[in-house]
Amino acid sequence: MRDFDFHEPESVHEASRMLADLGEDCRVMAGGTALMLVMRQRMLSPAHIVSVARIAALRGIRFDAAGGLRIGALERHCDIERSAVVRQHYPMLAAMAGQVANPQVRHQATIGGNLCYGDPATDPPSCLLALGASIVLASSRGERVLAMEDFLVDYYTTAIEPDELVLEIRVPPPAANAAGHYTRFRRTAAEHRPLVNVALAVQRSGARCHAASLVVGASTPVPRRLARAEERLAGQTVTPDIAAEAAALAAQEMVALSDARGSEAFRRHQARVAAERTIAALFGLAAA
Ligand SMILES: Cc1cc2nc3c(=O)[nH]c(=O)nc-3n(C[C@H](O)[C@H](O)[C@H](O)COP(=O)(O)OP(=O)(O)OC[C@H]3O[C@@H](n4cnc5c(N)ncnc54)[C@H](O)[C@@H]3O)c2cc1C
Repeated sequence: MRDFDFHEPESVHEASRMLADLGEDCRVMAGGTALMLVMRQRMLSPAHIVSVARIAALRGIRFDAAGGLRIGALERHCDIERSAVVRQHYPMLAAMAGQVANPQVRHQATIGGNLCYGDPATDPPSCLLALGASIVLASSRGERVLAMEDFLVDYYTTAIEPDELVLEIRVPPPAANAAGHYTRFRRTAAEHRPLVNVALAVQRSGARCHAASLVVGASTPVPRRLARAEERLAGQTVTPDIAAEAAALAAQEMVALSDARGSEAFRRHQARVAAERTIAALFGLAAA
């Protein structure tokens, strides 16, 4: 690994100035679980690392009924899993965080780092997209807020500029009749990362679905909501047949990856099965 200068700013202002001054030969580091791997493999050799670990403003998980949830970029997967407010108001998000990788990664890796890396084989992006989350970015030029679908651009590509920091993730307050379920499928038990995942957030009264946000990720270049599947669920009393039809639409509509981890056909099949199981779990139907 090439030598680098290690900077430890203590405020967003100080870090933003550093990123603006140091330019392209600089990388932000949070938990380091992704960045250190690519540096060891010499895929990246920055001359400067700006660690954000000492910036207190990037920490904290806060909820209020009017504004919803705010998760600081430095919160780790285990912090989200254990947070009392996340568990109470967004149980799907807490359950998802508890399934990321393994205990070592969950105790080191941050939500901000996870989103910035843009790796498709990850869990939080699908879940946050289904929940209608947005992401707050800051630079020496000011702050901007992007909806998750605008932040997640493509395979390993996000909308973040080199001089920007992620400050926090915002999730809108849940509706009174909101419910959600997250499913991940791993190709083998030895793998940590999902081959496919499905996040479903709905408003419902019993088996009646009023509105649905259904996202397939991990087997796609970038997770996306699937409108035809959502339309099949919305306004319906969800039965096993409707669940199967919506899942089939999701598998057709998704943009599927095809690579060494799985062919396009295999990924579409697993997405259909995961979507059907997710809908069945949420609406209390017999398992598909
Ligand atoms: C063995 C292993 C298994 C894994 N399995 C899973 C899994 O099952 N599911 C899953 O979702 N993920 C998985 N991951 C990925 C893991 O979640 C990410 O590596 C992690 O979340 C990245 O967070 P970090 O804090 O370590 O980021 P870092 O490695 O510090 O940074 C990652 C990238 O984000 C940028 N960055 C970090 N923080 C900020 C910020 N605040 N503002 C701007 N840019 C920033 C960095 O510049 C870098 O480009 C796995 C990783 C490993 C090593």
